[in-house]
Amino acid sequence: MILSQFQTVGRDLFTRGLVSSHSGNLSIRLGERLCITHRQSMLGNLQQQDLVETGVNRNDRCTPWASTELFVHRTIYQKTSAQAVVHAHPPYTVALSFNQTEIVPTDMEGRLLLPRVRVLIPDSADFKPGGLAEQIADALKEARIVVVRGHGTFATGQLLEEAYHYTTTLEESCRLLYLLRSLGSPVVPTPPVQITK
Ligand SMILES: [Zn+2]
Repeated sequence: MILSQFQTVGRDLFTRGLVSSHSGNLSIRLGERLCITHRQSMLGNLQQQDLVETGVNRNDRCTPWASTELFVHRTIYQKTSAQAVVHAHPPYTVALSFNQTEIVPTDMEGRLLLPRVRVLIPDSADFKPGGLAEQIADALKEARIVVVRGHGTFATGQLLEEAYHYTTTLEESCRLLYLLRSLGSPVVPTPPVQITK
């Protein structure tokens, strides 16, 4: 059951080109423990042995096998109510992160779900797996997804699928922003979104 959730999201991330063969990582919270992808696992082909269970706050004998981003996942669970975390490297999102401090979608779905997305800027000491953990977790107290410049996204949800949804929504918005700029079209916001009840 848990494995199938990881497999569905991992395979989709890979086939959509949102992670490379051995990058990206996924986790879910299990109370005081978490289940996270193995370091260097292939998200496009996850098997039972690619999932590692360890503590949210404590190390155990399995900890060394967890993803190199374990520290970020732990910090997110310690500071937010997230039950799942998806970390990916969506190319259009990462491309836009290089010259923006905030991504503001112009398309309807992006504006409804992710009106403004922060881009965190690592210094040289933080530009490594596990870097910027506190800043990422703090940003995710109030947001569904955050971008680390030149690296990728961290999204949260109650389920992996929810965090995956925010990841693909942001990437689609960034792809549209990129296309608009390539066409020389002015990037003007669509009308304010009216939420009907
Ligand atoms: Zn990464």
